[in-house]
Amino acid sequence: MRASDMQALDRAWQMGCTGRSTLALEIAHGVHSASVQRDDPHVQARSAYEISWYCFQLGKSEMGLDYAEQAVTIWRHLDQPAFEAQALSIQAWLNMELGQLEEAVALAAEALDIADQSGDLRARSLAINVTGVIFWLSRQPPLAIDYCGRAVALAQEAGDRSFECWWLINLGGAQSEAAYMALEAGDRAAFDAAIGPAIEVTHRANDLARSLGDTWAERLCLGNLAEYCNAAEDFLSAEQFLARYRDIANEDDLRGEGHYLDILGRTLISLRRYEEALVPLQHAHVLATGSGNVETLMFACLYLSRAHEHLGAFEPALDFHKRYHSLHQQFTAERTQRNARLADIRYETKKLRMLLDTEAGRTAEIARSFAALQQQTTMLTEAANTDPLTGLGNRRRLEAAMDAVEASGEGYMLAVLDVDHFKAINDKLSHIVGDRVLIALGALIRGALRAPDLAVRFGGEEFVLLMTGVTVGQAKKTCERIRLTIARHDWSPVASGLSVTVSIGIALSSESGIPHEILEIADRNLYRAKQAGRNRVVLSPRAGSSSNR
Ligand code: GH3
Ligand code: MG
Ligand code: MG
Repeated sequence: MRASDMQALDRAWQMGCTGRSTLALEIAHGVHSASVQRDDPHVQARSAYEISWYCFQLGKSEMGLDYAEQAVTIWRHLDQPAFEAQALSIQAWLNMELGQLEEAVALAAEALDIADQSGDLRARSLAINVTGVIFWLSRQPPLAIDYCGRAVALAQEAGDRSFECWWLINLGGAQSEAAYMALEAGDRAAFDAAIGPAIEVTHRANDLARSLGDTWAERLCLGNLAEYCNAAEDFLSAEQFLARYRDIANEDDLRGEGHYLDILGRTLISLRRYEEALVPLQHAHVLATGSGNVETLMFACLYLSRAHEHLGAFEPALDFHKRYHSLHQQFTAERTQRNARLADIRYETKKLRMLLDTEAGRTAEIARSFAALQQQTTMLTEAANTDPLTGLGNRRRLEAAMDAVEASGEGYMLAVLDVDHFKAINDKLSHIVGDRVLIALGALIRGALRAPDLAVRFGGEEFVLLMTGVTVGQAKKTCERIRLTIARHDWSPVASGLSVTVSIGIALSSESGIPHEILEIADRNLYRAKQAGRNRVVLSPRAGSSSNR
């Protein structure tokens, strides 16, 4: 693959994303011809794919289809599934534009499947969007809204602002279809409820298009906004959007132009400006005759007939009405056929729905693994704060608990407990016995405390107790009870003739404003307990008479 070709195609894509599709098409054509001559399949596939996009943007669906097929074939051959899925998607979309529903559905299903397997976000986003468009144009708005919304979310995840903008336009289209169907069913309230979101989402797309400098998308948005406002009988807003459209019009954009002329004509008739309405409607009539689109031609005739009628020109009014009538018959016949085909397609779309479930399954799977990860994190945090020998908390747990109680402003008490002559136990009876003593001490201490109190193994044969909501007297009593429980415990199962005592130093939070100093005070009191002969509880000299903060 030649770097200069890739640069040229990147430049072309940039142009296609900023409203210069004609220029983009020229560049991609040049690269494509050269790649065919050179027999460079990579460049040929990429340029063919881009050409199909620019053709789509410019309303040249048939030409675009040839190139999309070419890109699909080559990328399949080169085993590039993410690219193949994208080319399949645009092929499906172009088929939809040409009214070939069955082909569109089959291609979109294939695109979804391959994109899903490739895991490529952009490919999935495009395939899901095209499926949404198919649902929209085959008049299944709930599914269309679901798919188009997903496509927008995936485009955001992929960080592709152009895709995000374009899919938002389709989401607006899907929502407008829900509104139009409500109107046909005579449900005005449902229409009002649906047209609002369509306008809102299209506004979002329009803002994005403007920030990206994408005048192609901006024209689409303005044309659609005019259409939706016209349907909502807000003709003045419709006219304003059409005026903005005119400012950025592009004569190569036949697709947009036809839509613009149609809406402009209708809006002017609604505003009773019949003379002015004739101009865009006649132009729309010429364009629709050229493109062979029965529906747009039919409406051009209908509105031309109305405008002439209001102007008192009954002869052309009747003439256009007759043409409208015969086109209407043709259109209805085609629609009946189309509806029969739609019934088949609804069956086929079951497959699309199944693929949608795969998508939903993936989301659920991610949520599950996230929950598992959270659980693991909780377990790891728990393990990091636990002393493995005694099962009590460790120093980290104490620090966290002290931070919390400090933050709450509640008064508390710390007690440091140290085993008397523990070295001797280790030396005389072995470390294993020493460990058993520590395990038993852990259980005895925990058992002597109330639920809200915390006991941690601070290190070695030292334990720290943290108590809140207790008076000095209660704290001293609890420590005395622990000391006595240990001293009176029957240690013979651990080692015959063994006796264990502990010394405890207490400090109150009111003795210092600094947490680690409170621990130091407790440690000093512990030292004093050892000095005074061990197996006792010691408070600071005047602590016994003071009340804790
Ligand atoms: P004192 O009454 O003054 O506290 O005397 P002591 O012998 O307990 O003195 P010291 O606190 O200095 O001794 C602590 C001993 O605890 C030293 C160390 O070998 C022992 N030790 C620390 N951690 C462990 C442990 O996890 N298992 C066992 N078996 N012994 C430990
Ligand atoms: Mg010690
Ligand atoms: Mg000791």
